[in-house]
Amino acid sequence: MGVVGSGTMGAGIAQIAAQGGMEAVLHDSDGAALEAGLERARAGLERSAEKGRLSGEAAASAIARLRAAPGMEALGGCRLVIEAAPERLDLKRELFAGLEAICDPGAVLATNTSSLSVTAIAAEAERPERIVGMHFFNPPPAMKLVEIVAGDESSEDALAAATEAGEAMGRTPIRARDAIGFVANRCARPFTLESLRMLGEGVAEHEEIDRVCRIGGGFRMGPFELMDLIGVEVNFAVAQSFWEQSFGEPRWRPHPLQQRMVASGRLGRKTGRGFYDYGGDGPHRAPDPELEAERPIFDEDELEAAAGPRAPEILGRIGAQIANEACFALGEGVASAEDIDTAMKLGFNWPLGPLAWGERLGWSRALGTLEELRELHGDGYRAARLLRERAGA
Ligand code: NAD
Repeated sequence: MGVVGSGTMGAGIAQIAAQGGMEAVLHDSDGAALEAGLERARAGLERSAEKGRLSGEAAASAIARLRAAPGMEALGGCRLVIEAAPERLDLKRELFAGLEAICDPGAVLATNTSSLSVTAIAAEAERPERIVGMHFFNPPPAMKLVEIVAGDESSEDALAAATEAGEAMGRTPIRARDAIGFVANRCARPFTLESLRMLGEGVAEHEEIDRVCRIGGGFRMGPFELMDLIGVEVNFAVAQSFWEQSFGEPRWRPHPLQQRMVASGRLGRKTGRGFYDYGGDGPHRAPDPELEAERPIFDEDELEAAAGPRAPEILGRIGAQIANEACFALGEGVASAEDIDTAMKLGFNWPLGPLAWGERLGWSRALGTLEELRELHGDGYRAARLLRERAGA
């Protein structure tokens, strides 16, 4: 298999391909980036062996299957090529035209795009039926999810081959339609957006919202810590892209607080300050006291006892909105119910999938929360038809 672009994603994708028994040819137009990517893939395999996740022998043979190619022609013999170049439509179209010229007509050509349409990338191709999305998560060796995205023209045969390759790479493939943000990034939107709204409304401070999500929700990280980790500007750009691509869907309206943070240079860990301060010697927040309850907690009294008096409201709002977004995605046929829940558990390490969350929270409780908020704040809280049906409304 071939990988085009040996940056953050490409190097990790080549690593798991080699680990999965494939001959992996890594290509990058920048020689230094190519060498660095190959080195990262090798180092990743060595580290897995040191940690005992892989035998020394398996790591050595995987390393032997990794190769760097300064010219794209070297990918001519590949049955599958995954493109992981920068997120630009014109560049990706050009790369796919080049790949079609050198690869066998039966080869599967995949894009790792996270926000562009697979159909649009394939639009000018000679064989759009051979082009699919294979959307991996960062860092690929640690994240088990791969979304197999069907463009309008993708053939079932190409999708099946991509699914099989994803499995061979040790991932769990799910099937997604070529819709805005596919599955995982879309269903994750309300986690940060709803939290920003609550912060903006003065429901609670960011530390408290984060703590409630960890202690009561069982999320490994609260939404504000998460934004600081990935970069506040990155999260804001994703929010804007959803908003623009949907022509202003009210659920996806970005929050002015994000823009203000970006304008003031508070981008998170990378700038030493985001929602939290990372400048000092100590950790950015106090450790959580150990609690033995099972998480997430849905019983309101238990939740209050564990995470404080505002916890039911905070987690109730986040829970209603994540379940609602998943119902919209399911209703629009973006993925199956099972795949939606799998995507969130494997792509974002959520303790429960959003549909299972709605079930545990209670659909009528979720609907009640949404209706109350819609009354106060408008259509950003419009309930999905499927959620209404599940609530028996
Ligand atoms: P990156 O900038 O780290 O790497 C891109 C690489 O492509 C660079 O090494 C660059 O030299 C190379 N490149 C540029 N032009 C090229 C060309 N014409 N031919 C060959 N190589 C070329 O980017 P990334 O973060 O790895 O993202 C790559 C793709 O993966 C994007 O489409 C992005 O949306 C998607 N993605 C990123 C993440 C993430 O968290 N970073 C997660 C999922 C998907």
